[in-house]
Amino acid sequence: MSFKQKYHDFFNQLNPTYFDEERFVPAVGPENAKVILIGEAPGANEVEEGEPFVGRAGNKMNDVLSDIGVDRSELYITNLVKIRPPDNRDPKSDEIEAWAPLLEEEIKDVDPDIILTLGNFASKEMLDTSKGITQIHGRIFTRNGRKIMPIFHPAATLYDRSKTPDLEKDLRKAFGKEDTGQQKLSDL
Ligand code: URA
Repeated sequence: MSFKQKYHDFFNQLNPTYFDEERFVPAVGPENAKVILIGEAPGANEVEEGEPFVGRAGNKMNDVLSDIGVDRSELYITNLVKIRPPDNRDPKSDEIEAWAPLLEEEIKDVDPDIILTLGNFASKEMLDTSKGITQIHGRIFTRNGRKIMPIFHPAATLYDRSKTPDLEKDLRKAFGKEDTGQQKLSDL
């Protein structure tokens, strides 16, 4: 069943001003994933491939994940807004609001152990806070009884590489793969 078929009730009631088949990118990943990643909105590469996080930011995310021994195919990856905003602008609050009920349904269906919100947009929206990502990244909050951790958006680490170690550290914490500094026998 396609994503649109699965959530046909949502798509049937969505105001057509918020939908455009040509710019639509569905979520990807197993429906029983233990971790959900929530980004902002798809970009041009995502529209071309029909999958979230497949451009430069996505490659960066995959690299950091594989460094800590996680494969992206284990994760449910979605966005606040499933339509690419024109001219790469930020999603508007009415767009986020229009797509919010779908995100809630996805979270309910996947029922993850933890939700990771990537960057300011997703983090502020999901945690209902005005605090910036630099202040809150890597901390575990509770939202409707679920664990949620804001982390840097991988695109931000492309502009400012000093954020990469924080992104890796936060991901390690979220996946319970904290770097103990202990040497492995295989390293000797
Ligand atoms: N950035 C996002 O927030 N989402 C994507 O799907 C790709 C890049």
